[in-house]
Amino acid sequence: MKLILLGPPGAGKGTQAKMLTERYRIPQISTGDILRAAVKEGTPMGVKAKGYMDAGGLVPDEVVVGIVRERLQQSDCQNGFILDGFPRTVAQADALNSTLADLDKNLDAVISLEVDPEALVERLTGRRTCRDCGRGFHVTFDPPAVAGKCDACQGELIQRDDDKEETIRKRLEVYRAQTEPLVAYYRSAGLLSAIDGMQDIQVVKNKILAVLAAK
Ligand code: ADP
Ligand code: ADP
Ligand code: ZN
Repeated sequence: MKLILLGPPGAGKGTQAKMLTERYRIPQISTGDILRAAVKEGTPMGVKAKGYMDAGGLVPDEVVVGIVRERLQQSDCQNGFILDGFPRTVAQADALNSTLADLDKNLDAVISLEVDPEALVERLTGRRTCRDCGRGFHVTFDPPAVAGKCDACQGELIQRDDDKEETIRKRLEVYRAQTEPLVAYYRSAGLLSAIDGMQDIQVVKNKILAVLAAK
């Protein structure tokens, strides 16, 4: 299964991607996670990316395109992959097409998670992320069994620097201007399945599985 999870910040891409990796035994490729790891390690790429991320903007296309191109060539992507948070611009989508053509791979589906803007703000302000494994929780909608601790690895749950209301608003604007056009892009490619992301996590999960089962 080779698929893209598309949707605004807070739509539930990471949450659903984690579920799909377990179900299909294929890796989740989250450019946000890869960039945050680079920032934490202080690599040259991380140093370059940090300013854009803190400001709620997009990291330059060539940086993320390079990350994904390299990642898709690793052996664990042989049987499929879930792209989460990439592509985010038309230029990235075009670059992905040529990378996939070079690797002789085709996308099976693009799942677009649709969520109202007000709900996104509430989701992102309440999001908590495991410092160690990156798993996401929500203080109200998906609380951990023990407050402040990751269910999967017991790591400490933290609030991401960019999950502050002001940065969230900026990220939502950037989404509308730069990423939303990809919905039409993939619809005209015949790959898009839109899913109502306003429902419970389990309901959304079952709808995604139903779409993928029909592929
Ligand atoms: P994205 O990766 O698209 O930015 P996340 O998967 O990190 O989004 O989800 C954002 C926040 O919303 C997290 O705190 C998550 O627990 C919560 N969340 C995800 N899906 C739902 C849902 N269907 N209903 C309510 N909250 C959700
Ligand atoms: P969310 O799904 O909550 O928006 P991500 O973890 O996907 O968050 O991304 C966090 C930040 O990392 C983005 O705001 C952006 O600065 C950067 N980023 C992640 N993926 C990309 C991408 N494909 N292109 C450009 N910047 C990206
Ligand atoms: Zn964890």
